[in-house]
Amino acid sequence: MSDRLNMPLERDFKFYQRRKHDKWLEVPAPAPALEGPVADSHAHIHMLPDPAWEFVRCAANGVDFVCEIVDPSEDGSLPFDQLAAWRNSAASQVSAAGLNVRSTDVRIAVGVHPHNAKLYTDAIENELVGRLDDSRVGALGEIGLDFHYDLSPRSVQRDVFVRQVELAKQAGLPIALHLRGGEDPEKDNAHAEAFEILQQIGFPEAGTLLHCCALGSDELAPWVEAGCYIAYGGALTFKSANDAREGAKIVPLDRLMVETDSPYMTPEPMRGTVCTPAHVVFTAALLAEVRGIEPGEGRRAFLEQLHDNTLSFYAGGR
Ligand SMILES: [Zn+2]
Repeated sequence: MSDRLNMPLERDFKFYQRRKHDKWLEVPAPAPALEGPVADSHAHIHMLPDPAWEFVRCAANGVDFVCEIVDPSEDGSLPFDQLAAWRNSAASQVSAAGLNVRSTDVRIAVGVHPHNAKLYTDAIENELVGRLDDSRVGALGEIGLDFHYDLSPRSVQRDVFVRQVELAKQAGLPIALHLRGGEDPEKDNAHAEAFEILQQIGFPEAGTLLHCCALGSDELAPWVEAGCYIAYGGALTFKSANDAREGAKIVPLDRLMVETDSPYMTPEPMRGTVCTPAHVVFTAALLAEVRGIEPGEGRRAFLEQLHDNTLSFYAGGR
């Protein structure tokens, strides 16, 4: 990701795909253009080569809120230190381009990813707890269990997960969950285990968000019944994601969100390029379609609801 893979032109707000022989093809944004602002509920903007520019692209494409995900064990303090400078730079680029758009608001979710559970120490925990006082922090996350990659021992993942849920509760913050199972639906079922853990220790009152949801309706039902928020990312647009699309129909409208997980999980039709937060418009358009909502006034209301859900989840108490 050393070059701007998405951009053939240095300062162009449109979307492009790289074709053979270094040719670029413009991909139209959802048509007709989305009727309302969209919120990206999960992105790692600091992992992109030019975060300030990504805020410009967000603003230009009606993405007026992003939750930036930070893992203190991996990212250190850089996103916290740089965020204001990125946003200031974006604001001047937006005005220099003569764009009459809203600037993009940001909240941060901070937490140790299950991949990094083995790096969780008292020092990291102290750093994490210190960050929770930052007024920009709106959630503890992403935290959870990953039995697909198993980059940390499962027992450590479980302990670190429980520990961080307790910290969220103490701070009165919601949690954003990363759950990924392995091959064996019995032994490697990260969702079932996490659900059991949360039932035992109690879901945080401030809310629980299942990020990058790919569950079919049967597996999703208990999370919905437990009052969780559910966010869909680029994977929802993949051909193979029929189960996830079925699941997306059972989520109550007031607990539904979209996200990018940028720089990962690029949605169709942008696959093959680096995923950036502005790409959330494609996932939002597809989710509307999955829910049977036509472009126009109905979709405007739908997008507004998703947007409000995201803001009240991450910015609710602050
Ligand atoms: Zn993520």
